[in-house]
Amino acid sequence: MKQQTQTQTPVFEQSEPLIIQGAPISPGYAQGTLYLQPGLLGPVDIPLNSTQHNVEEEFYRLDEATAKISDDLLILAARVEKEIDAHLAAVFGAHREMLNDQVLKEELRKEIVDNLATAGSAVKSVFLRWETRFLLMESAMAREKSDDLRDISIRLRNALAGITVHPLEAIPEDCILVTQRLLPSDTVFLGRRSVAAVLLEYGTTGSHAALFARQMGVPCISDIPEIMNRLPRGAAALVDAHKGVLTVNPNREMLEDFDTQVKSHKQIFHAARVNATKPAITTDGVIIHVNANIGCNEDSLKAVEYGADGIGLYRLEQFYIGRTNPPGREELIAEMRHTLAPFKGKPVCVRLLDAGSDKPLPFIGFMAETNPVLGRRGIRLMRKYPELLKMQLQAILALHKEFEMQCLVPMITLPEDIQFVRNMLTLQCNQLNIRPPELGAMIETPAAALSAKTIAPFVDFMSFGTNDLTQYVFAADRENAAVEEYFNDASDVIFRLMALVHSDVPAMKLSICGELAGRSEHIARMLRCGICSLSVAPPLVAMVKETIRVSEGPPKAGEVPAMGQRDPLDSSLRGR
Ligand code: PEP
Ligand code: MG
Repeated sequence: MKQQTQTQTPVFEQSEPLIIQGAPISPGYAQGTLYLQPGLLGPVDIPLNSTQHNVEEEFYRLDEATAKISDDLLILAARVEKEIDAHLAAVFGAHREMLNDQVLKEELRKEIVDNLATAGSAVKSVFLRWETRFLLMESAMAREKSDDLRDISIRLRNALAGITVHPLEAIPEDCILVTQRLLPSDTVFLGRRSVAAVLLEYGTTGSHAALFARQMGVPCISDIPEIMNRLPRGAAALVDAHKGVLTVNPNREMLEDFDTQVKSHKQIFHAARVNATKPAITTDGVIIHVNANIGCNEDSLKAVEYGADGIGLYRLEQFYIGRTNPPGREELIAEMRHTLAPFKGKPVCVRLLDAGSDKPLPFIGFMAETNPVLGRRGIRLMRKYPELLKMQLQAILALHKEFEMQCLVPMITLPEDIQFVRNMLTLQCNQLNIRPPELGAMIETPAAALSAKTIAPFVDFMSFGTNDLTQYVFAADRENAAVEEYFNDASDVIFRLMALVHSDVPAMKLSICGELAGRSEHIARMLRCGICSLSVAPPLVAMVKETIRVSEGPPKAGEVPAMGQRDPLDSSLRGR
């Protein structure tokens, strides 16, 4: 239902332009008026005096509200899964589990009894205590959990107060929403039609908010300090979420410049879309395959629409996360078949389960790890639970005739990691008497990059996961905005490692599937490091292809001198 449009009167009728640099977390341009949404903090709870307090009644209200929210979350998860993304829907499944946590329930009841609290104020204080506990933890994962808790707390208190409409359902069409942070459930209300852009004080590129915004194509800039005090409500603003620049109260010249910029971007994008399905050929005649990173069928359909040559990274864990039981073999095959269906006859690369770290699986008893990012994730987990690996390989082989299958192994550190997969794959192929699909190693740890020669005998290709490679090279958590300045995936250091791998194993097919692959300004340099295919988010495919068409291809065989003669790394760093 379309909500009635509210307006916010400008605080300043005529003000000086204000330019603010923030962090771009979802690309795009937008123009509109600022709509300030002060903390989505939920309703005020009215205290009762002690004679009015009735423990049983408050218990009853709490149980009713919990049951209602539990049902709502179920419906919401189904809606998000259908309309947006299965991975994102899992967030709401996790909320539902938190909501029904027995320890939490008991603490709420205790608060009602011990402090004569209403159900609403019990929810407020108990959730605040839990939220603070998580906030005090250093890991980004724990801090995201505190966001989740706040989200559930607001839902519960709204339900207890009889409020059913989310505040974001009432925001004016096409406004630029200004708020401190977005919780996972908030983002569901931000469809493309209802909001032109989002400006935030908190939220990294890895946050739930960023994920939703990108998925829905809403431009978003984060990291704007004191956002609610600095930005005047109702003011005109220009958002350049490609560069992270916000212009408030633009003058005529700024408006004209912005307009020109948007028009030229549209033209370039349009031209790129016209050629999107054609191959990307470098100026010296080399075809560079531009594939897509996907996680579900919707992504796959988008990838076809944007002209992807194949699938370069199918993140299989999106199907596992949020499930309480592992999928059965047939179920896994059906899901893979459904996801890959739009790419019949084209190469599709399934990345084996990259669970662990920040993607725990509820059905595996994870050891409590003090530092899970450096713990048992990806192939390390599969070596511990070989059945998990075996079932994925069986599913891949079952689809091998229907699709041009490739298989990619995450978090390779030691040659033994990839040898383990190679042995199991060979065994299974021998049993079925079929030829194995191409096997690849993700190069996303410094050790893997530095030992490419010993990994090479077991694989047909290598794909750089620059997101994790950067995290591990710079010892900077990819989810933590506090160390953002250390996380530079386009740094010389990363290019040196890529050039080193190419120099060590010159005949190996090299690809990049990390976020770096989608950044056009670095493509020429990637190709100079011997990269022969890229895999990017579906909406980036067309632009990446256009950039390749004006770039020189990878060095030809024999063109790359061995390390120690003329340093190949230097040529990749200085440009040619
Ligand atoms: C990477 O690490 O660059 C990568 C592509 O894998 P993921 O982002 O799924 O960890
Ligand atoms: Mg990775």
